[in-house]
Amino acid sequence: MNDHSETTSCSRPITVLGCGLMGTAIARTLSDNGFSVTAWNRTHAKAQALEVDGVRAATTVADAVAGSDLAIVCVANTDAVRAALSQVDDWSGVTVVNVTSGTPDDASALDSWVTTQSGAYLEGTIACYPSDIGDPHALLCYSGQESLFDQHRSTLARLGMTHYLSANIRSCNVLLAWWGSFYGASLSAYIEAVAYAISEGVTTDELLATTPMATELITHTVPQLATAIGTGDHITDQATLDTFLDASRLCLNAMHSAGHNANILTAAYRNMLAASDAGLGSEGLSVQSTVLGPQ
Ligand code: NAP
Repeated sequence: MNDHSETTSCSRPITVLGCGLMGTAIARTLSDNGFSVTAWNRTHAKAQALEVDGVRAATTVADAVAGSDLAIVCVANTDAVRAALSQVDDWSGVTVVNVTSGTPDDASALDSWVTTQSGAYLEGTIACYPSDIGDPHALLCYSGQESLFDQHRSTLARLGMTHYLSANIRSCNVLLAWWGSFYGASLSAYIEAVAYAISEGVTTDELLATTPMATELITHTVPQLATAIGTGDHITDQATLDTFLDASRLCLNAMHSAGHNANILTAAYRNMLAASDAGLGSEGLSVQSTVLGPQ
């Protein structure tokens, strides 16, 4: 296809593969920024819907990529990425930037595949919603060869705050895994707790008034946890793991009495219990990290 070194991506059409909620936001934002954008979607109507935004709708992946040196892939999952990319055999001259959520192993495998097909590969992670795309505070992270990232940095910067992580292609999806597990589990814990509170007669106004205190406490505490886990120093002069364990037991009893399964809190309780059973209950809450998996 094209020669990598010929021009920057700014002067060439950009390909967006996948026009779901996020892919649509990406294609529209790049088009709004004056780029020539060609989009492909498995269901063609979604690509066509972007024509009013000045995006060209291609019916095949090969047509979408023709003449482009940057293909941003944003589909549901890694199987869908493979399904889209495998429609073209020769990716020479094209940098594939895959912002589809996946695992670190997915990133390694796709990097190998694209490289074997003569293309270049960067992994991306999106830490925002589609409506944030284009906002300077919307965070998008990338990993892979830095010189390749630099080649497309100015284009990718139009999507939001652009953060290059490392040359290790896996690092984006490691970030996604730690961040996603924290964010998803935290929101689920909030939903579980709020459902309990509302069933016990707590009003929405009371919840809204007290939620910031809880989130501020979390904001204050998490850096201490990261430091403790990173250094291995779990000694506390504030609250021991056993104190948290007792409090969690009380909360579990309350929620079970009210007929709630409290699945998220049960999982947290089990993690604390494992550390306490290992004789670590007099150390800080972070010490449970030592019984959760390899260190
Ligand atoms: P979505 O609206 O559900 O769109 C999914 C897209 O994947 C559609 O374009 C769909 O095509 C395509 N697709 C599914 N299976 C396919 C296959 N086998 N072959 C080819 N294309 C296939 O999802 P989304 O919200 O845009 O999310 C896309 C990616 O962005 C996901 O990995 C998601 O985790 C990530 N992300 C999303 C958000 C968010 O807030 N939405 C935030 C961060 C990251 P059809 O139209 O033909 O079904």
